[in-house]
Amino acid sequence: MKSRLDRYLALLLEANARFNLTAVREPEEIRVRHFEDSLRLLEAEAFAGKRVLDVGSGAGFPGLVLKFAEPGVRLTLLDATGKKVRFLQSVCGALGLSGVACVHGRAEELGHDTAFRERFDVVTARGVAALPALCEVCLPFVRAGGVFLAMKETPENFSGAGRFGGAQEAPFLYTLSDGRSHAVCRFRKTAPTPPEFPRTWAKIKNQPGS
Ligand code: SAH
Repeated sequence: MKSRLDRYLALLLEANARFNLTAVREPEEIRVRHFEDSLRLLEAEAFAGKRVLDVGSGAGFPGLVLKFAEPGVRLTLLDATGKKVRFLQSVCGALGLSGVACVHGRAEELGHDTAFRERFDVVTARGVAALPALCEVCLPFVRAGGVFLAMKETPENFSGAGRFGGAQEAPFLYTLSDGRSHAVCRFRKTAPTPPEFPRTWAKIKNQPGS
């Protein structure tokens, strides 16, 4: 895994020199704030062999890093920005990764597509949107009994997840080697998401969680 992370780091640095892929630019900072942070998710949930969707994956966090650690994961990386999806595709090609689909699209639209809706054991998201909006767009992708994991700087509660078929569980709290404390907010899929969700992004933004 080490050498794959090193090669991924080199590709990230090279792409970052051409366009803004990640605001964190120092290799050591990338290792801690992106790689280590993503890997800590393995302590919050068992990933081996599961169908995993990373919503708003950006440059590949946490999804792509999880795939290095758990090669048997069937991974879908979703992002609304084409150049980020093209970068993810180029990394998968360069590192010879199999079992990864890089999808260019918007979560609130794909959530209504039967090829994606209620199809994943685990859905992850880091730094994409506020928790109520995230629950609305991410919970529809989770199969019954599966889990949505939202990576946040501090533990957050969202009492409205039941509207989307989710029930919040205890967060996983951890500290990175640079001393920063982070939290994984956990939502179990306990019922199917009603068909009216997710709503359009405009509606989600104007009336979050309602
Ligand atoms: N998860 C990565 C990137 C966070 S930046 C990380 O933690 O580093 C947020 C990303 O979410 C951006 O790449 C943006 O294009 C994507 N995004 C925002 N809203 C989205 C939506 N509705 N559907 C899909 N992707 C979205």
